[in-house]
Amino acid sequence: ILVLGKKSFLRHIGLILAYSLFNKIKYGYRFKRLGNRLTFYFVTIGLLFTTATVSILLIKQYQEGYESIYTEANDTIKAVNQQLARSLWNVDQESTHILLEGVFRMPSIQGVQIVETLGNQYIYGETASPPSLSRPLIFNGQNMGRIEVTVKDDLITESVREQVMFIIANSTLMIGLIAFIFSIIVKKSITRHLAHISKETSRPKQLTSEFYQPITLSRPDYNDEISDLVSALNRGRKQVAEFAEAKKTYENQLEYQANFDMLTDLPNRRHIEHYLSNEIISQEHSSKFSKLAIFFIDLDGFKEVNDSLGHSMGDRILLDSAIRLKSLLSEYDGYVARFGGDEFVASFRCQSREDAELVAEETILAFKENFILNDSQLQLGCSIGVVLYPEHGENTEDLIRRADTAMYKAKEAGRNTFAFFDQSMMHNIVLHNTIKTKLKDAIANNQFTLNYQPLINLKDMSVIGFEALLRWHDDDLGNVRPDLFIPVAEKSGLIFDIDVWVFEHAVAQVEKWREQFKEDFIVAINFSPTNFHHRSLLDWSNNHKVFKQTLNWVELEVTERLMLDDDPVVLKCIKELLKSGLKFSIDDFGTGYSSLGYIKKFSHILSKIKIDRMFVTEIMNSPSDQALVKSIITLADSLSIEVLAEGIETQEQETSLIGLGCDYAQGFFYSKPLPVSDIPSFIKQWQETKIINSSNA
Ligand code: C2E
Ligand code: CA
Ligand code: CA
Repeated sequence: ILVLGKKSFLRHIGLILAYSLFNKIKYGYRFKRLGNRLTFYFVTIGLLFTTATVSILLIKQYQEGYESIYTEANDTIKAVNQQLARSLWNVDQESTHILLEGVFRMPSIQGVQIVETLGNQYIYGETASPPSLSRPLIFNGQNMGRIEVTVKDDLITESVREQVMFIIANSTLMIGLIAFIFSIIVKKSITRHLAHISKETSRPKQLTSEFYQPITLSRPDYNDEISDLVSALNRGRKQVAEFAEAKKTYENQLEYQANFDMLTDLPNRRHIEHYLSNEIISQEHSSKFSKLAIFFIDLDGFKEVNDSLGHSMGDRILLDSAIRLKSLLSEYDGYVARFGGDEFVASFRCQSREDAELVAEETILAFKENFILNDSQLQLGCSIGVVLYPEHGENTEDLIRRADTAMYKAKEAGRNTFAFFDQSMMHNIVLHNTIKTKLKDAIANNQFTLNYQPLINLKDMSVIGFEALLRWHDDDLGNVRPDLFIPVAEKSGLIFDIDVWVFEHAVAQVEKWREQFKEDFIVAINFSPTNFHHRSLLDWSNNHKVFKQTLNWVELEVTERLMLDDDPVVLKCIKELLKSGLKFSIDDFGTGYSSLGYIKKFSHILSKIKIDRMFVTEIMNSPSDQALVKSIITLADSLSIEVLAEGIETQEQETSLIGLGCDYAQGFFYSKPLPVSDIPSFIKQWQETKIINSSNA
């Protein structure tokens, strides 16, 4: 304040206030709606024009009025001028007054006065200085003074004001009316449609819905900017809708693919987990059913069919199985899904273990019916593992794993049956994992040894050789049975190294006995089919020193599974191994997908068929098994393949097998698998007994 001074300070304050007021008006009173704004502009322009026109008109009128008043005043003065001058000359005051009063009476005159040279003054009305008009009064060449008139300006302003009032009132009314009509027109033709468009476009749902609706305007078919705008918008919206639709279908498809199996149309593994988790939650609130049963179903012998008859046949079996399961489970309001491969998971609510058992039996029955494939028929069973919620597990993962374990138990129990999970299986799972970890170091830790079981020629009762059987002793687990650890080794990929170790040791060992006893002993070595897929097999058979000799006295025991594997890699490996003179025999014949046709197909590489112990056990009391063994022997004979019977435990079994024409035998009846150290004495003893026997005979 001190610097600026009081005055200039106030001026600054004033400026600031004015500016803020201006801004307030400029921004604060803006019309937000288009219709209002257009009307506002219209009204403003209308007012401006009317004001301008009216102003010009009024100015003109003012001028005219002004002129007419002045002319009247002027004329009046002119008219009285001579007489006034005379009466002044005559000093006739009375006439002067009469004259002046006459002048004053004129409506246009407000005041009049005479300023006499002699000093007398005559005044009427109100006079202003300077006066509106002034004129000298001259008589006989002598100046008598002058007359001054003030005209009545009010008159003009008054009439102008009246007119202004009239025009303003009139035009305000008119403009108001026009603005009202104008706003209606604007609304009807523009803003209403714009509002409709914006309302329609602000509904994104419409764009994603299946039925896309274009924006339409309720008005005649004008071809104007608004319809251009709408059609442009509609084009864009249609594209968006189509895109949304496509996206939705795509997402649906993705969702379907993520949750369903394409082949069977059943829910897949991923869906199972989701479904069962929800079921478990809702089970807790279910009052009607106390249990949730979960089946783990695996088709018996599916792999063999798939491998031998081709994947398309396999697919048809899976599809048919899916249909059977679906229709069965629908009766129980249940759920079926494909877990993967030939495994299915089914689930339903029930009251008791017995209920679940009944359904399991029905499921087994459903698979008793033949599968019809083109011109052939085929029977495949299934094995089912059953778990119940809540007793067998708390969550989906545990339940499924346990159902899977129970399924394996069912398979072991002879297939085509079901098994409930129980706690002892839990133990198996743990054992499986322990075995897996321990197996890894078993070779390095020298925990493997080989036992040898003699193979007997039934024609002359001679020992033709030995089957090498693996033994594993672990410090913690003790002696672990091969049928426990071999499957684990197969699953975990450790089997190749194990079998190679067995092969090299068994060949070396039996070679020693061949030299020692000067006998043509053979050695039979078990060889897992999975080895034929191992990347190192060819490298091993081509380069290892064990293959540098003729191995025509070594037999690889493989299972039927290998014969069914038509992978070219497998055939290549078989060919390679055959080069060294190795022979192949089929182990456990009759337990898998026993196709005599396959024997025929592979007769050129097969030297022996080993009939599984199961048949030997049954042979005494099952005529059908006897017939089957007989046909195997006959067929093998015709193909020059030798037949060995496994697991002979009694004299009767031996007799029947000899009767059926079996060539060789193996079993506890002759000898259990023996450690290396026991073999020489066994051979010696056997030779002696044979001599005794034959000398007895
Ligand atoms: P496998 O090849 O069928 O071997 C014969 C099995 O039957 C042996 O069981 C043997 O001890 C048993 N056995 C022999 N005669 C009789 C009998 O009269 N009665 C009964 N009850 N059993 C008899 P082991 O040694 O326990 O072997 C079990 C299976 O483990 C073998 O069955 C074979 O599949 C597998 N295995 C054993 N060693 C090896 C190996 O080195 N490599 C591979 N891949 N598998 C092997
Ligand atoms: Ca064997
Ligand atoms: Ca066997």
